[in-house]
Amino acid sequence: MIAGVRLIIIGRQGAGKGTQCQRMSRHYVVPHISTGDMLRAAVREGTTLGREAKAVIEAGSLVGDEIMIELVRGRLDQDDARTRGYILDGFPRTVIQAEALDVMTERHPIHAVIDLDVPRDLVIDRISARRTCRDCGTNYQARGAERHPWICDQCGGDVVQRDDDTREAVTRRLDLYESQTAPLLEYYASRDRLTVVDGRGTPDQVFHSLTAAIESARGSQ
Ligand code: AMP
Repeated sequence: MIAGVRLIIIGRQGAGKGTQCQRMSRHYVVPHISTGDMLRAAVREGTTLGREAKAVIEAGSLVGDEIMIELVRGRLDQDDARTRGYILDGFPRTVIQAEALDVMTERHPIHAVIDLDVPRDLVIDRISARRTCRDCGTNYQARGAERHPWICDQCGGDVVQRDDDTREAVTRRLDLYESQTAPLLEYYASRDRLTVVDGRGTPDQVFHSLTAAIESARGSQ
């Protein structure tokens, strides 16, 4: 097992990113930094950031670049991320965020930028069935006959459907992904930094493809 890795995972919502990131976080023993989880925690806690972000998240829009960049700068500055590395999930989401991240990580560059690729129609089905632990963010797939709310296997929290996992908000987020986040792929691809991993297999197959891609990207540095 290789410890101490710095990764960016890009991909449509519902591509299985969160679950794979949690597993990689245990595998590489590095924190999983999900900006969506950080924002949802701020909303729950009712902080100034949370109050600002709530309506934006519910509408499926993007929180402003400046706010996001400062949020991530503060997080990457914490001891665990500085000493061990991290898996960035949900950031960067725009080219402006990517440029800011390049400056932030100049001294300790990112090892691999991965696009976890799952086609749009497939993720719409997956997100409609997605249920998420309110406390630890673990994702589950609903099969239609579950009790509400369920209890999370990981932490005992309530497992519910996210307010922004409605079909309208999902469609809007996917449109936004195409218009704002897809150019990120071009940003990294044109710098020869992007690895595309097929996210359509079983969770185990995808995990193995991800770790193989990461090890190959690290090996070539
Ligand atoms: P996620 O859990 O990654 O799907 O994020 C949930 C929501 O949080 C998104 O739909 C955005 O409203 C907001 N968000 C998360 N990360 C970012 C980011 N890097 N830039 C802007 N908004 C973000």
